Amino acid sequence: MTEPAMLEVRNLQKRFGNHEVLKDINLSVTKGEVLSIIGRSGSGKSTLLRGLNLLEPPTSGEILFHGQNILADNFDLIQYRTKVGMVFQNFNLFNNLSVLDNVVVPQVTVLKRDKESAKRHGLEILQQMNMAPFVNAKPAQLSGGQKQRVAIARSVAMDPEMLLFDEPTSALDPEMVDDVLAAMRDLARTGLTMIVVTHEMEFARDVSDTVIFMHDGVVGEQGTPEQLFGNPQEDSTKDFLKRYL
Ligand code: ADP
Ligand code: MG
Repeated sequence: MTEPAMLEVRNLQKRFGNHEVLKDINLSVTKGEVLSIIGRSGSGKSTLLRGLNLLEPPTSGEILFHGQNILADNFDLIQYRTKVGMVFQNFNLFNNLSVLDNVVVPQVTVLKRDKESAKRHGLEILQQMNMAPFVNAKPAQLSGGQKQRVAIARSVAMDPEMLLFDEPTSALDPEMVDDVLAAMRDLARTGLTMIVVTHEMEFARDVSDTVIFMHDGVVGEQGTPEQLFGNPQEDSTKDFLKRYL
């Protein structure tokens, strides 16, 4: 029996003026799956992720979350965004708040948790991210890798069903990258469903169940890491991978 998709994208298109950035995207993600999206800069990866979160509503097509059309007028978008969180390249932390408050405040304001349980939950997750010594620090006092681990903790604290990562290590100094990738590996092991846009091919190869190569606004090729990295079929995929493997 095949498991029904948690998220399914059908014929997704996105146009900015005359520029068709996403042409006809189809994909699906099941519970517990890690899907990596690779591809050249400008191929539409961020636009796709922002579409899935409705930060950038698609021009046409369908996005189904547990079979429900998230583009429907009466769909509860606020609740959806707590279930499908997003981690950005540039962290998007609240710079005036402490590390702990960054993780606590969204739980209190959006999920209406009481402050004490939000704090307990937040501390536990910051600990898992090895950020416990920094709970009282302000983001400006942290390295990029530490900021990203706080941003991930903030998303995880909302108990999401799925997290979307848009090049979470691209803004980091090289020596910070591994710590963040390690935190993401741990999350994947907990069974969290993840979509990860990344240029870290080793991560994509080791952690993903499925890899998508995006090319000019379409899914150029899709498969297991073994298929996509070990035996790519399309010339565009081969050309892209030559630069990394
Ligand atoms: P990637 O994340 O793969 O680098 P993007 O999704 O950021 O690609 O961008 C794909 C294309 O869409 C690019 O040509 C980019 O210039 C264009 N684009 C992205 N966002 C906008 C926007 N808000 N307005 C106009 N064009 C955009
Ligand atoms: Mg991008």
